[in-house]
Amino acid sequence: MKYVYGPVPSRRLGKSLGVNLTPFKTCSYSCIYCQLGRTTFKTVERKSFFKKEEILEEISKSLKSNPDYVTFAGEGEPTLNSDLGWILERINHDTAVITNSSLLWRKDVREDLMQADACLPSIDAVTEKTFKRINRSHPSLEIEKVLDGLKEFCDEFDGTIMLEIMIVKGYNDEEVEKIAEVVGEIKKDKVHILTPIRPPASKIEGVDARKMIEILSIFDAYKIPVEIVDFLESNDFDFSSFSSLKDAIKIMRRHPMREEQVKKLAEHFEVSLKEIEEINGIFYKKFKGKKYYYYL
Ligand code: SF4
Repeated sequence: MKYVYGPVPSRRLGKSLGVNLTPFKTCSYSCIYCQLGRTTFKTVERKSFFKKEEILEEISKSLKSNPDYVTFAGEGEPTLNSDLGWILERINHDTAVITNSSLLWRKDVREDLMQADACLPSIDAVTEKTFKRINRSHPSLEIEKVLDGLKEFCDEFDGTIMLEIMIVKGYNDEEVEKIAEVVGEIKKDKVHILTPIRPPASKIEGVDARKMIEILSIFDAYKIPVEIVDFLESNDFDFSSFSSLKDAIKIMRRHPMREEQVKKLAEHFEVSLKEIEEINGIFYKKFKGKKYYYYL
């Protein structure tokens, strides 16, 4: 499969069949917490990166795995793909789009997203300084414009909106009150608060439990339906939908796996953990005492 991966267990979407709509690290941001490393092609220009018919065909074939959602995320910002609306319109299944919100000021992007059942826009900052530091955004983007677009989109969208905020120590953890004030005015179903747990590519730190409780009470004061997303997915990978170990391993490119998940993968394909570790491209990093496996 070239564009579709998974299904993977998602913290917010259950069993999620991932679809990648951009070339590797093509994004309007280069977030300091991005698990894929620094953005190699920073752009705000929408394009038809691949043959849309091929993407649709892969999705249709993969639906037999019966995911909860077909989720557009992957290796860059999905709204940069100008075929997004065309593809969404043709999927006969629940769909979700994970977006960094950067292009929601564009009418064509908002119109494309209207075809989705759920949208997970993220917002990590409300001041220009923090926006530039945490999201390392494309120079043409300003936080005011991004926030205006986000508000407009949320007002228009009929489906489920789960806003996502990543809190990074020393970057936006002191801006939470201001973020809560702005988020309080945006129409949404839920707000998910995350902090980096899986090892990101750059050296950054998440906030501790005490700070998380403090953050929770700030959002509570604004009557915002907030949830702290635990990093340990409750449901696990379903390896039965993969025809080969090679196919299953590709997931680790976008979605690092915990050691226990890799052990289950080894069991499923009747190989040892050592054999998996020796596959060219597989490596692991230790983070907070746990091993996370990647494939590059
Ligand atoms: S928006 Fe997403 S893909 Fe783009 S840099 Fe940030 S975390 Fe990475």
